[in-house]
Amino acid sequence: MPRPNRFTNVVRFGPVQVGTYYDGRGRTKHVAACTAPRCDFSADYHGRPAAELAARTHRCNP
Ligand SMILES: [Zn+2]
Repeated sequence: MPRPNRFTNVVRFGPVQVGTYYDGRGRTKHVAACTAPRCDFSADYHGRPAAELAARTHRCNP
């Protein structure tokens, strides 16, 4: 059941992007994803502040 994600309010904190999307089941989710090469960090959060905090404090694996 592929479902395209439409991200809104995308902002960037260093290499990490935070975006908000609607999961199609009545919920809004917030994702923080690192765009740095070889860093697979990505996580969903229920709240925008939590996602932004995670993005701001993220450190890529050495
Ligand atoms: Zn990273």
